[in-house]
Parts: sequence; structure tokens; C-alpha cells
Amino acid sequence: AEQVAKPHIALLPSPGIGHLVPLLEFAKHLVVHHNVHVSFLIMSSGEVSAIQDQLLDSSTLPPDLHVIHLPQVNISPSLNDDTSLITQLSRVCQESLKHLREILVELNLPKALIVDMFSTDAILICKELGVPVYSFFTSNTKGLAWVFYLARFMKEFRFAGLPNLIHVPGCESVGIDELPENILDVGDDVMRHFKRLSMVSGIFVNTWEDLESKSSWQNGIKNDPFYKTLPAPPIYPVGPVIKRDEAVAKSDDYIVSWLDNQSPNSVLLVSLGSGGTLTSEQMSELALGLEMSKQKFMWVVRKPNDFTSSGTFFNAGRGDDDPLSYLPEGFVERTAGAGLVVPTWAPQVAILRHEATGGFLSHCGWNSTLESLVHGVPMIAWPLYAEQKMNAASLIKEIEIAVKPLAVATEAGGKSSVVKREEVERVVRLLMESEEGKLMRVKANELKETAAKAFKPGGSSYELVSSIVKSWN
Ligand code: UDP
Repeated sequence: AEQVAKPHIALLPSPGIGHLVPLLEFAKHLVVHHNVHVSFLIMSSGEVSAIQDQLLDSSTLPPDLHVIHLPQVNISPSLNDDTSLITQLSRVCQESLKHLREILVELNLPKALIVDMFSTDAILICKELGVPVYSFFTSNTKGLAWVFYLARFMKEFRFAGLPNLIHVPGCESVGIDELPENILDVGDDVMRHFKRLSMVSGIFVNTWEDLESKSSWQNGIKNDPFYKTLPAPPIYPVGPVIKRDEAVAKSDDYIVSWLDNQSPNSVLLVSLGSGGTLTSEQMSELALGLEMSKQKFMWVVRKPNDFTSSGTFFNAGRGDDDPLSYLPEGFVERTAGAGLVVPTWAPQVAILRHEATGGFLSHCGWNSTLESLVHGVPMIAWPLYAEQKMNAASLIKEIEIAVKPLAVATEAGGKSSVVKREEVERVVRLLMESEEGKLMRVKANELKETAAKAFKPGGSSYELVSSIVKSWN
């Protein structure tokens, strides 16, 4: 009888590990802690992600979480052509969602559908079916404020050009250098998703009240008059929703054993998310800087890409090449003992959770950022794509747990730049052995406490989810 009483909810992540991870974890949270039955809908395009298959392995999922694959669409997103990452993402979603109606009908119409940023065609389909749609915003409240503001921003600046400092209602001002690359070129097909966000029944944000109370949340979209003029849905900070207790595969045991032999807080994890890649030049400067720093490090190494910084976004974890062969001559041998290089992919949460890990050089993807905060690990901010520069700026200026290396221009006009080895050495030492670094670790540990509190029964995030689930019953 209890089985029947459970509300049935469907979740639909956009492609990309950075969307899959938090939506899957939210699904697990709903099933395990809030007595919900979940259908988890997966889109697939031409690219294969070994990591996606691993994450969706049914033997690791709770019984009331069912994975359903939407028919594969005939698009092979490639990041070496000119079409931007979000345009390609949006295309895959649009094609896949042509099958959504029949699937929801087959599922007997769930009580609600939870989508993320690029699956907003689902809102229109669900409207006709009478299924309420919620959005799970996989970044922070500042990012969300931006998305709401973007339409006005485009109108103001598309032709006039950008000022150096932009005032986003409800946020600290944002510097032009913190904006995503080519922001004014965001096409109408992508803008359409952003505009539709105001049509959902509610927005879950992967943050918690204590984290953003100092910045965007407090004066934020909750109270700012600008947002009162929009049909803005209620916003629910329900995070940090991250991978918990990540299981380590047998083949990765050596990683944990290596950490076991290091002293507490001595190791810097270097990893750039599921999609991040460096140019060949940057990869060698980073290597040599790590070596010069004389600090312990664990580096998840990928084949460099001179054309895009999100080179593995659609095929995360595919190890079809020997990435270590791109490191400077003799680097692996010279740093043996001080560093461990791991090809392509590593169990990031298990590493961050380990007491030997004391710093994280990260691209500041929001999931990686949360994983670092939840484990009290301060960061070196190395933003690459999407909203990562904005995340980096918050981590440095507002949350105060990160330092950012300075890049120097490599050609006139500043289109491309590189962080030199001496600068890598400086920030690594700053984070791992200076007083400043220690202070950041103390702050990170304070946040770790508030994160844990928010997410467990009685905490702000947990109780918010409870009350929404009740409304579905
Ligand atoms: N990740 C991992 N191992 C890796 C690289 C990434 O487990 O070697 C996970 C990481 O823990 C995070 C996700 O992949 O959960 C990446 O999400 P994030 O938002 O940080 O970045 P994105 O990949 O979306 O840019």
C-alpha cells in the first residue's frame, strides 16, 4: 500500500556530466529521504560517455529510481567547430524532446517534471498535459539572477558594447572579465531557454542559504524590485546536492592508496571538470609550475586541445589516447613521489573527501565547487568556460576561499593568454603553505559545517524539499 502512496516524479537532465550528476543526486535524495518514486529520463546523442554509463549503472541506484532512455537523436555534437557549446546542447535537447510527450503519457503522467536549463521545450509539452514543471538550476543564485537579467542585458548592450562593470540587480557588480566568453553572441535559440525559466512552477537552486547569504541570496532575487516585475517563480535553495560516498572502482584503488601515504592537507588536486581541456602550451606551463612549487599534487591529466577549453564535454572519460604523453619530457619521472598523474578521469569526490587533500585547482564548475566546499577544501580558481569565471569571482571576492593566478596575453588584443609556470608556482605555494592559504582553509571548513547542517533533517535545504514533496502528495 505504501508503494501506491509514493508520488511519482520525473527528472530530465540536459546532456553533460555537470547536469547529470546533480540531477541524479537530487533524484536519489528524493527517493531515499523523501519517499518519492522517480523516473529519470536520459537523452543521448551521437557521442558516448563512458562516465555517464557508469553513473547510471542500475546496481548502484536505489530501487525506486528508474532510468529511461529517450530515443537516440542523430546529432554528433563536436566541440571543434564554431557552434558554441550551449547551442549544440540546446540542439540535442530540442531533438530529444520530440519524444517526451509519448513517454510521459506511457508513464501515466508523473506528478511533476524537473528539468534543467536547456530542456525548456518540456515546459510547453507539460503545459498541454497538465504536468507542473520545475527547474533544477545547476549553478548558484548569482547565476540564476543573471539568467533572469540576460534579456534586458542584451537589449542594453548588444549594440552599445559592454561597460567595464555591470550591475546585475540583486548581485554584486560583475566585471566584464568575469562574464562568459562571447556573451553578446548568445543566439535566440539559447535565449529562448533563459526566457522560459520564468514559466516554471519553482526553481531548485544548488546552493544553501548560509553560502550565499553574504552575496546574492540576501539582497538577491528574493527582494530586488527588478525581479518583482517578472513573473518569477519561487526559488528553493536545496543544496548542496553533490555525489555522496562515491564508490571507488578497483582500478582506482591506487589513487586512494597514494593519498593514504600523504600527510593531512598536503595534496593539491588538479582537475578541470568533465569537459575542461588546456592548450598544449598551458599544459606544459602548469606542469612545470607544479614541479617548481615542490608541493604534493594529484593531477587528472587530459590530452590538450588548442581550439576549445571544453574539449571533452560530450565524451567525458573516454580514454582513447595516452594523455600523459603530452606532458613535458621527463616530468612524470622527475615528479614521481611528489605527484601522481591520473589519466583522464578520477573519483573526484573520494579524493576531495580524503584528509590528505588540502587544495583543489579547479575550473570552478559549480559541482566541483560544491564538492570542494562540502569537504572544506580551499581552491585555486582556473575558470575555463560557461559561467565559471563568475563562480571564480564569487569564490575569491565573496566567499573568500580561492586564489586566482594571473594570466598574461600571448597575442595582441588579449584574445588568448597563458598562466606562466612562475605564477603557477606562486599560487600553489600560496594556497598550500602560506598564512593566507590557511585562512582560506579555515573559511572553507566553516562552510563545510553549514553545508552539512543545511542538508540534513532539520536543515534549511532538507526541510524545503520535504515541504515541496508534501505538496506533490
Ligand atoms: N568529475 C569526476 N572526475 C573527474 C572529473 C569530473 O568525478 O575526473 C565530476 C566532478 O566530481 C563533478 C562533475 O564531474 O561532479 C563535473 O561537474 P562540474 O560542474 O564541476 O563541471 P562541468 O564538467 O560541468 O564543467
